[in-house]
Amino acid sequence: MMNSPLLITSIMQFAKKNHATSEIVSVTKDDPLHRYSYAEAFARVGQLANALARLGVKQGDRIGTLAWNDHRHLELYYAVSCSSLICHTINPRLFESQIEYIINDAEDRWMFVDPQFVPLLEGLVDKIPGVQGFIVMTDEAHMPQTELLNLYCYETLIAGESESFDWPSLDENAACSLCYTSGTTGSPKGVMYSHRSTVLHSYAVALPDLFSLSVNDAVLPVVPMFHVNAWGMPYAVPMVGAKLVLPGPKMGDGAAIGDLIAGEGVTLAAGVPTVWMALLADLRESGKRLPSLKRVVIGGAACPTSIMSDFQQHGVMVHHAWGMTEISPVGTFNTLKPGMDRLDEKEQWKVRAKQGRAVFGIEMKIVDDENNELPWDGKAFGALKVRGPWVCAGYFGLEGYSDTHDEDGWLCTGDVATIDPEGYMQITDRTKDVIKSGGEWISSIELENTAMGHPAVAEAAVIGVSHPKWSERPLLVVVRNAEQELRREEMLSWFDGKVANWCRPDDVVFVDELPHTATGKLQKLALRKQFEDYVFPSTG
Ligand code: AMP
Repeated sequence: MMNSPLLITSIMQFAKKNHATSEIVSVTKDDPLHRYSYAEAFARVGQLANALARLGVKQGDRIGTLAWNDHRHLELYYAVSCSSLICHTINPRLFESQIEYIINDAEDRWMFVDPQFVPLLEGLVDKIPGVQGFIVMTDEAHMPQTELLNLYCYETLIAGESESFDWPSLDENAACSLCYTSGTTGSPKGVMYSHRSTVLHSYAVALPDLFSLSVNDAVLPVVPMFHVNAWGMPYAVPMVGAKLVLPGPKMGDGAAIGDLIAGEGVTLAAGVPTVWMALLADLRESGKRLPSLKRVVIGGAACPTSIMSDFQQHGVMVHHAWGMTEISPVGTFNTLKPGMDRLDEKEQWKVRAKQGRAVFGIEMKIVDDENNELPWDGKAFGALKVRGPWVCAGYFGLEGYSDTHDEDGWLCTGDVATIDPEGYMQITDRTKDVIKSGGEWISSIELENTAMGHPAVAEAAVIGVSHPKWSERPLLVVVRNAEQELRREEMLSWFDGKVANWCRPDDVVFVDELPHTATGKLQKLALRKQFEDYVFPSTG
């Protein structure tokens, strides 16, 4: 067989030749509904690659992005990776200090930003000395007023460039993109994807028992392109030539998402549970229907069965999926096996609520505290470990870091799960000490340190408690200093201006003591158990 390298460049060239007329539709700040063909998109990708070369970039340079899902961000995905650079997508919702850390750690050379994130960079510019300049992803008419130096307008930058670019022949193991995860304790860590891992992951994502992608689909990723490459859709969709619909900054706007689905004939959409609640609420209020929509993939956090059954009323099949930044991200996916459709409704829901079966390419196992593999009986639960060609073997710049990989090279996911005899995995808990709210991580340690800064706090712990809209929200549990007064309102307002608004604890509970291990370590699992039935006052 021919030893053809697996390259993102090949996806682009294939899509350009075979699906030149397929459409890409996106919402941007400067155009409510931008529409063009794959042929036009990839012509501009050539122009952008030429423009990047003119900026003086060198092979392997990291190019940072702070942007929503739209056609320009897609152009960057291809122009950067296919011209031997590394596309580093950054989550603009992180704490500013984390964004600063990530840009410096990645040594980003240039930053491509949506106009709305320019103020964020203005605040950071003195702390990110390695960045040579900024490109605002808009046209001249919509350029923001700013003092940032070395600033370009995206459309002007690429305007005079040739559409043809001499794409380099790359090693399939060359790095193509970088995404930091803040899903574990300590500083965010960079996961570097390769061309090979990305192409293999795209093949897997497109399979019938996964996203089941076809040229006849219109696909709407409502998961951000700054979060694990929008679950691989920007690659898997062009691989099959389907229509791609990108919601820009409208991500959390239920009515706008509904209009986009109806207007563009979207057949498949994907995102975290929270975004679908907004859409379903809007459908309930407006009485609108979404006849084109057939499937919705929900992952990133446990999907409540109520969302699945609400979608079912609209004739939409929901598939639950599980993944991680470290695994590109898709690991398991839920479709029913033959005969399961004959199970009674209650039993079917039990299966569908699980995070699904492993995808070929991902090996998974659950182990006990001594690393003994546990049976797939649906009852035994243990630490979930995975390995495979699109699972990271380590982190960018952290050679020798071993907290997340065992000695046999398996990735320790930080999730606790059961696996049933049919291979359906179900997450039952998490060992990593973080809270996932609306698909984004909140560091409990950061909140605990902030709380401990209050003179009346003797000890503080923050845990994630289940929330009907956000999946989880932070609950602060505090032991007060015996001799000092501290009321709920005073404790909660202590976070004002110290952490981003959306990260502040939703409530505080005062206790006499917190559970500890024999070595004095806080027992988060015990604390989560203690508060498993807790209901936030705002939702009770
Ligand atoms: P991230 O790296 O930010 O994509 O987060 C990955 C983590 O999100 C996983 O290790 C899980 O803890 C959580 N997660 C992802 N998908 C699901 C799901 N379907 N159900 C429950 N937790 C999930």
